[in-house]
Amino acid sequence: MVKAIAIITVSDSCFKDNSKDKSGPALFDFITEKYPEANVHTIIVPDEKEIIERELKYFCNSNIDLILTTGGTGLSPRDVTPEATRAVIQKEVPAITTAMTIESLKKTPMAMLSRAVAGIKDRTLIINFPGSEKAVTECIHVVKGVLSHAISLINNELVEVRSIHDKMQVDHLCPHKMNSKVDISKVALRPRESPYPMLEMSEAFNIVDAVMLQWEECIENIPIENAVGKVVAQEIIAKEPMPPFPASVKDGYACLSLDGAGVRKVRAAISAGENNFTRLGPGECARVNTGAPLPLGADCVVQVEDTKLIKASSDNQTELEIEVLVAPQAHQDVRAIGFDIPIGAILAEKGDVIDAAQIGMLAGAGYQSIPVIAVPKVAIMSTGNELQEPSEKILRPSHIRDSNRIMLKALLKEHGYDCIDCGIARDDPTELAAAIAHALPRTDVLVCTGGVSMGDRDLLKPVLINDFGATIHFGRVRMKPGKPSTFATCQYEGKIKYIFALPGNPVSAYVCCLLLVLRALRGCTRHCGDFARLSVRLSHDVPLDARPEYARAVLRFPAAPDLPHAALLGNQCSSRLLSACGASVLLELPPASDSLKQLDAGTTVSALITGRIDLTRL
Ligand code: AMP
Ligand code: MG
Repeated sequence: MVKAIAIITVSDSCFKDNSKDKSGPALFDFITEKYPEANVHTIIVPDEKEIIERELKYFCNSNIDLILTTGGTGLSPRDVTPEATRAVIQKEVPAITTAMTIESLKKTPMAMLSRAVAGIKDRTLIINFPGSEKAVTECIHVVKGVLSHAISLINNELVEVRSIHDKMQVDHLCPHKMNSKVDISKVALRPRESPYPMLEMSEAFNIVDAVMLQWEECIENIPIENAVGKVVAQEIIAKEPMPPFPASVKDGYACLSLDGAGVRKVRAAISAGENNFTRLGPGECARVNTGAPLPLGADCVVQVEDTKLIKASSDNQTELEIEVLVAPQAHQDVRAIGFDIPIGAILAEKGDVIDAAQIGMLAGAGYQSIPVIAVPKVAIMSTGNELQEPSEKILRPSHIRDSNRIMLKALLKEHGYDCIDCGIARDDPTELAAAIAHALPRTDVLVCTGGVSMGDRDLLKPVLINDFGATIHFGRVRMKPGKPSTFATCQYEGKIKYIFALPGNPVSAYVCCLLLVLRALRGCTRHCGDFARLSVRLSHDVPLDARPEYARAVLRFPAAPDLPHAALLGNQCSSRLLSACGASVLLELPPASDSLKQLDAGTTVSALITGRIDLTRL
């Protein structure tokens, strides 16, 4: 968007008598017509290189998008506008002036005598025009078509470019192009109080639980390497024993226990993985490694530490006789067939949440895939005109990088859920509706952040209601952070879609994703999605808020037997994501009352275990 423009008339005579300036006003008229909303600054300066340069720099540093100069581009000794411009710009855009020259040459060969320059300083495009009113008017018409696009490109802003591009994508992916029914023109008529009742947390949880019951459970077979965190759908039985052969537990000698202590002839050497058909007779043994199969006839292993070498071959490459120093017991240091997992043993019960050890066990038992309860498909979308992709090099004025999307993707992943990324939607009803229409066919659960508060650009609820016929199950919850948290459902292409519209502040998005989204997803595959609770002791005084608060905290474990101590992660402001970094728990702080304004250090409070708990000693 072209927001601010400067027009500089460069002329000694106009500087002395402003009324002589005709070209500046001609540019002004053109610009104010083309960009009626832009701020336009006009000045007249003499043909002095230093002054022109100073003014150009001043405007460039004042967030001006476009500077048009007129005058001082010719061959007379005082004409220095191109030199001043060259001293300021970092990149030249020669084709702009070439295009002007080509066009002007059609009218007069005098155009050859213009030395106009066009270029970029930081985020400002500067274009020199000739001094005569006629030439200015002709030249501005040559460049007018590229100005907006050039400025968008310079700003890496691509707001227009991006929206054109996004629109093309959405049009392509969403053949039923929709125009939002939401009218945002009458901003003065927007409600000043939320029409949504403020629910208690328990009510919000009950609603989510009841609504999510509609999620139809189904079973899918997935490769075991993807199964961590998934819920087992059917009992899984061992089809093979582990170990499948009698295996040595030690490095030592496989013997016959009946031989007792004494000297043995070493008949064979068997390493792990070796198949050996030696049958031992009385007074014989075989050297074995841990995990090696026992030879036939052997019923025990004597560890190497309990033996003595009696005789070796002359080159010491073979042991010929050893002495067993301690009489062995039958079965000593032998894992019998099925010792670890007997055939038919239950490897996983229905409802088990698969962990790494279970994956190892299943692999050991020959399973490559297992039946699990399918989880809903999840999509993440951010909303907000101020948001830029974190990967963009330059942050545009008044913009911030989108931290929520990548954070929520990671949070879901940390808890075992994959999701698709639906990008950033803009705070415009039609664009938002198109983005939602693009996301819904690809997901069961849509998680959006931003756009649910009371601002005139908080459009999510109206768009969901008016364009998707959504039912808003709740739109406000008595919680801190996360008051405007919204939960909705709609039918889309014959399927029910669950929509969690979370507030945009990153901490609110983080906490609400845990408490509402993850809890709901866990609930779809387990009996209950609640996080486990722990009693903890506050390390310091904690002031209470009017709303029940979910404070992010770390735990420290005292050496003496006591509850873990919980310390808040600094200022709990909902935009300050540092307060969630490294959080092991969400403390469930009660709301303040007349008699209770703060919890003192040492008070016991309940904590939801939502993160990793590391053993940090006090
Ligand atoms: P909203 O919920 O849209 O009213 O946004 C509340 C605050 O959160 C504003 O300061 C936004 O700029 C900020 N915000 C919204 N979405 C994001 C996001 N995806 N990443 C970082 N900050 C955000
Ligand atoms: Mg917003």
